[in-house]
Amino acid sequence: MNLILQKPYSPIEPIHYKEWEQAGVEVYFKREDLSHPFISGNKWRKLHYHLLTAASSNASTLVTFGGAYSNHLLATAAAGAKYGFNTLGIVRGEPVKNTVLGLCKHFGMQLQFIDRVSYIDHLTFEQNNPIANAYWIPEGGGGRLGEMGMGDLLAEIDPEYTHLCCSIGTGASFSGLLRKAAESNSSIRLEGFAVIKGGEYLAEGFQKQNYQNYTYHTHSHGGGYAKTSPELIAFIEKFSRSTGVLCDQVYEGKMLYYLNEMIVNGVYAKGSKIVILHNGGLSGMLSLFA
Ligand SMILES: *Cc1c(COP(=O)(O)O)cnc(C)c1O
Repeated sequence: MNLILQKPYSPIEPIHYKEWEQAGVEVYFKREDLSHPFISGNKWRKLHYHLLTAASSNASTLVTFGGAYSNHLLATAAAGAKYGFNTLGIVRGEPVKNTVLGLCKHFGMQLQFIDRVSYIDHLTFEQNNPIANAYWIPEGGGGRLGEMGMGDLLAEIDPEYTHLCCSIGTGASFSGLLRKAAESNSSIRLEGFAVIKGGEYLAEGFQKQNYQNYTYHTHSHGGGYAKTSPELIAFIEKFSRSTGVLCDQVYEGKMLYYLNEMIVNGVYAKGSKIVILHNGGLSGMLSLFA
């Protein structure tokens, strides 16, 4: 099957946030969140080459892994429906119902829950559970192909920008950016923000990409993955009210909360032109209002 994927819609827009303007920096969002309501942000980017490979190998089913609130599962479900694949989502943990998994099913994804112990090793799971005509996508859509798709977006960022910010879960997106920046002799400073506790273990993998011009912030997790605080929630609310842009509390809002403190404290030189990747993930916000 020959699949043609269009370049996602993802303009760069200035963000007018008073505190940042007062700090003398220009801030922009690369609106990766606008590429699709659910195949959005880095999830679209990471799926790109996986989808092309699945199509060219005539796979009929996409199989992938995720947690019960996985933006990647939802992106795969929506992409499967859009591009003509069946989808199977292997979900970590006890069977549950929630808005994200509900949307996955709505797009036709079959869900299979497996206990956390069996879940650990994907490759073994794959070997023990052969599925006809399946294309297996690693958790989070990563792997070499996922990283390549993410790296492609660097070409859409002009050299006039000084910094590019990206939130970090599995680290696949940031790795892809680092590798592409090294390959293309980029001069932009890459800034990664961990939203998981103990993200130090990813540092070695980032170093291997051979790009020197980057900072990996490991203290931006706000207490741990998906942990929130009243301050964080107040910040993302204030941010949305002043800019009209929604940011979720798990990824982008957490990065912004930390970035905001640095900007306000003068960490970024006046005149810096900072681009923030808005990687979507808004389905994760719905749980805030449930
Ligand atoms: C998945 C996700 C991330 C993390 O991406 P990784 O490649 O796993 O590091 C960041 N932001 C959003 C909105 C996401 O959905």
